[in-house]
Amino acid sequence: MKLNRVGFVGWRGMVGSVLMQRMIAEHDFSLIDQPLFFTTSQAGQPGPDLGPDSGHKIPPLVDAGDLDALARMDAIVSCQGGDYTQATHARLRSRGWCGYWLDAASTLRMAPHSTIVLDPVNRAVIERGLAAGQRDFIGGNCTVSLMMMALDGLFNAGLVEWVTVMTYQAASGGGARQMRELVAQMGAAHRSAEALLTDPGRSILDIDEAVTAALRSAQLPAAQTGYPLAGSLLPWIDRDLGEGMSREEWKGAAEANKILGHNGRAIPIESVCIRVGVLRCHSQAFTIKLKRDLPVDEIGEMVERANDWVSVVANEREPSLARLTPAAVTATLDIPVGRLRKLSLNGSGGHLAAFSVGDQLLWGAAEPLRRMLRILHQH
Ligand code: NAP
Repeated sequence: MKLNRVGFVGWRGMVGSVLMQRMIAEHDFSLIDQPLFFTTSQAGQPGPDLGPDSGHKIPPLVDAGDLDALARMDAIVSCQGGDYTQATHARLRSRGWCGYWLDAASTLRMAPHSTIVLDPVNRAVIERGLAAGQRDFIGGNCTVSLMMMALDGLFNAGLVEWVTVMTYQAASGGGARQMRELVAQMGAAHRSAEALLTDPGRSILDIDEAVTAALRSAQLPAAQTGYPLAGSLLPWIDRDLGEGMSREEWKGAAEANKILGHNGRAIPIESVCIRVGVLRCHSQAFTIKLKRDLPVDEIGEMVERANDWVSVVANEREPSLARLTPAAVTATLDIPVGRLRKLSLNGSGGHLAAFSVGDQLLWGAAEPLRRMLRILHQH
């Protein structure tokens, strides 16, 4: 059976374009009778090209503010952003619309009537939500989803007592404009030292001074990020919640426990979230307190068996440098986990170090949503 009418909002943004790319690659549109594409800015213009084998003739773009048109959809997938969700979702529901709402924005993630979707990790939670008549299925925060994919085997075995996470997050988490700005900053840094680099006898301190001056210059393109990110890092992501915690750090425990369907027996998860000069892969270093002290090999097997995308990288120099990096993982669905090692800390043992990398536009944003559409199709 096909899904009947599915509306897409935000399909040409950064997350939306990756969603389209993946849906075309996986022939997901063949499961939909009538896909309809909405826009906040280009109503009446031609819709996207879904490729020759989609079998669809796409009508012109529809105004994303047209509640009547939205209410005719059986499901709506929004990658448009939180403001759109805020302005639209409650109004549609208050008119009695009872279709499925799938969303990349954070607005509805912690709402009691929503499920955070990451089916390789929480298919049972999703099924319970569907059986209970839930209609709002929301993609998780990118960093949280990537952590859950990486540590799926340990979380779902009930082995984790607590986790601390140090993150190294990509510019794409701040949107397309921040990605462009990072590349522009890299260019400005290089240009400042280009002439000096051609002279092999030139002191490295001269090169360093030129680059540092460029990064501190008022001319550095920094309108989006507000600060130099190339050749530097930013130790704060998202809003300041007070008491020394950022909203990105708060999401770690809140969303992870909701993904796992934990009520009242939450796993403590603490983090320090850092933006680094990487385009679209988030990396994370974990310290995990296990409830039982197990051999590292056994832990590695549990991690690797958990889902089809996670793999364990031997904790040795060469494979770590070759496979456990943003350069290696970008634009793939791979979730490598490495640097697995018992830590010699005081106390009862069972402290594990791990490091993981994942593409935050794929498992961190688009992939859980397109897979949720498939689950709806089966449902
Ligand atoms: P985005 O790239 O800024 O796109 C949002 C909308 O901007 C588009 O759908 C499009 O809407 C409009 N737009 C205006 N000019 C555009 C242009 N030149 N090219 C493309 N689109 C243009 O937003 P996003 O980063 O994908 O984020 C969407 C939502 O996903 C947000 O709520 C975000 O928090 C969430 N999310 C993001 C990430 C991430 O990694 N960035 C991860 C997880 C979740 P119209 O077609 O209607 O004009």
